[in-house]
Amino acid sequence: MESHPPALMQYCPACGQKTFVPHSPKSYHCSSCQFVLYLNPSAAVAVIIECDRHLLMAVRGTDPGRGLLDLPGGFVDPQETAEQALARELEEELGLTQVQPTYFASFPNSYPYKGIVYQTTDLIYTLSLRDRPPVQAADDVAQVVWVHQEALKLDDVAFSSIRQAIAAYQALTPCPTPG
Ligand SMILES: [Zn+2]
Repeated sequence: MESHPPALMQYCPACGQKTFVPHSPKSYHCSSCQFVLYLNPSAAVAVIIECDRHLLMAVRGTDPGRGLLDLPGGFVDPQETAEQALARELEEELGLTQVQPTYFASFPNSYPYKGIVYQTTDLIYTLSLRDRPPVQAADDVAQVVWVHQEALKLDDVAFSSIRQAIAAYQALTPCPTPG
């Protein structure tokens, strides 16, 4: 099971026995003490920022997907709303404040990190701007680029959830047919 790397999760955290095995796609079970650990998807947020048919894409500075394109965003912290997480990430990654993204759709993702594959539910927002805002790449964003919607190659985008989100957004806002 992709989300259950056995080498990293074989000892029961409750009794220490090596009887801790995947029980379902979202849980482990210990046959010695009956302890159950649930690993439900983590919530994450991302935003499609569009200006004059160009999308603001972040170049990832860290793995997974280092060097590939991503949307600005990140994981929701404990006790944080998705909107708060998005506002925090936009400020941390781009220095962007005072914007009001709108909820768009959600897509599932797998996020491999240091030997564990985290399952996530990515909440996608959109933000349409009249002018390109001044942004400063920081945190785990190496660089930001504005890519014309028609020139954006989904193969250059790091995650399946983000590829699906951009495809759904482009289907809603097709480029006008020339002529
Ligand atoms: Zn146990």
